[in-house]
Amino acid sequence: MFDNLIGNEKISEFFRRSIKSGKLPNSLLFSGERGVGKFKFAVDAAKAYLCLAPVDFQACGKCSNCNRASVFNYPKSDNKDAHKEVVFSNHPDLGILIPYNRNILVDAVRDLEKHANFRPFEAKARFLIIDDAEKMNAHASNALLKTLEEPPENSFIFLITSRIDSLLQTIRSRCQIVRFSPIDELEIVKFLVERREFSQKDARLVAKLANGSIGRALETDLAAFLENRDLMLRAVRALIESNDRADLLRLASSLGDPKFKDDFEPRLESFQIILRDIWSLKHGVRTDKIINSDISDNLLKFSEKAESKNLAEWMLQIEELREQLKFNLNKKIASDALFMQMAG
Ligand SMILES: [Zn+2]
Repeated sequence: MFDNLIGNEKISEFFRRSIKSGKLPNSLLFSGERGVGKFKFAVDAAKAYLCLAPVDFQACGKCSNCNRASVFNYPKSDNKDAHKEVVFSNHPDLGILIPYNRNILVDAVRDLEKHANFRPFEAKARFLIIDDAEKMNAHASNALLKTLEEPPENSFIFLITSRIDSLLQTIRSRCQIVRFSPIDELEIVKFLVERREFSQKDARLVAKLANGSIGRALETDLAAFLENRDLMLRAVRALIESNDRADLLRLASSLGDPKFKDDFEPRLESFQIILRDIWSLKHGVRTDKIINSDISDNLLKFSEKAESKNLAEWMLQIEELREQLKFNLNKKIASDALFMQMAG
């Protein structure tokens, strides 16, 4: 099972060895970017114990226990009471805590503590996973300390976080930390080509956008990305090449069009990435190192014409607008203002 995971070979090896020698630490903290496979690793480590026919101390992935441990009975997101308890998989020895709104409830942590002290129902051990562990507030974190400090022999508690700095030091110091690295770009390309039937060209672009995260790569809507990019390239052309204010105004109004409000943020992001790529090329970064390397010929031409100072200023202006987006601003007014400001 660990073999199916991309990248992070050292971590696969750590689990294989620890499980084989029976020395897997009872309290583990999985730390690393979103989408690098932390949750899958945690579940696979549990399955290695629950599996009816493990192969070389790894789960077979096919038996009824492996199948049961793959299905979690997630509650509806507005059902608060259901978030006060451990959410179990179809196997009674594998459960998970998930946040209610933005918090892991203290009652849920207490329920986890209770379950950690039960003997396993069927398997040799029980596994309790806390996903988004940084969403435990101080109260919830403190409720967990004792269990982490003296974990019952047959219970394993796995904390998962993409924001380890937000966890209390007292929590961190009681766990062994497993650090996941971002996944190598070439590994993501290989995965997309071999397992998801991407073309090399598409896979390379998606891998660059994913920034080391398989999860993000799989979520990327490439067609939408390309459409947004074409629109923003037009803006770049108007700014750098043609100085066409009329076209900039037209673009501003389509950017601010409420019909496309869900595209607003991705378009701004795309705009920013294009400008950063042009800026990078201007500063000697190799064409294969930029994000939009598939259109590097185009971007090189822009980089020859653009002023470094303007590029930096534009990126900042977009960044400021994206910051303000958090406060529900009027997108139409904001787009007009941005483009006029950029045109100088
Ligand atoms: Zn199995």
